[in-house]
Amino acid sequence: MKDIVTAVVDAIHMAGFVEIEVSAKHVHLTEQDVEVLFGRGASLEPVRPLSQPGQFLSGQRVKLIGPKGTMERVAVLGPARSATQVELSKSDCVALGVKAPKRESGDLAGSGSVTIEGPCGTLEVKEGVIIAHNHIHVTEADSRRLKLKDKERVSVEVYSERPVIFNDVIIRVSKNFSCRMHIDFDEANAAGVQGFTLGRIVRKVEAEGIGRSIL
Ligand SMILES: [Zn+2]
Repeated sequence: MKDIVTAVVDAIHMAGFVEIEVSAKHVHLTEQDVEVLFGRGASLEPVRPLSQPGQFLSGQRVKLIGPKGTMERVAVLGPARSATQVELSKSDCVALGVKAPKRESGDLAGSGSVTIEGPCGTLEVKEGVIIAHNHIHVTEADSRRLKLKDKERVSVEVYSERPVIFNDVIIRVSKNFSCRMHIDFDEANAAGVQGFTLGRIVRKVEAEGIGRSIL
């Protein structure tokens, strides 16, 4: 049975299809910042694993405070990272009154600022707020099959009630990833993504911005 499932999944990936997952607003914290917000000796407590191996939703929640608004019970993902990072949609930024650039995860120089409040303390995040650039996690095996390189840009057609093609989607190749496309809630709403949804890589995006069909 497992062989059949594996064969079907391989065939789906070979045709350039990828499952789309929607990322709600969330926070990544350093170990030090976990202690600031949740108390000395505190660590993130896993409650649910995420699709990417080793990543989890923690039981802890925080409040985000911006110049124009606040957001309660924002999810904290684990494990702890080397830099604190807040990932918001454009709509979240507008509601909070926060300015944040569209960036890849980890690219935080000059990014937005926000205040994070936990049960035991408050953190002024001077830079670390981003609107995550949509991306596809690809395994090394699938990257070879589909001839996709790390950091390459592709266009993805979404199969939904409101079909949309996302251009300029970043490929992220790693042996630790499972194949998934990640978009935020604004993108999901614009494309009518609800429940299980597939997208298909329809072309690579050349540096000059002219598409080249690969499938
Ligand atoms: Zn991702």
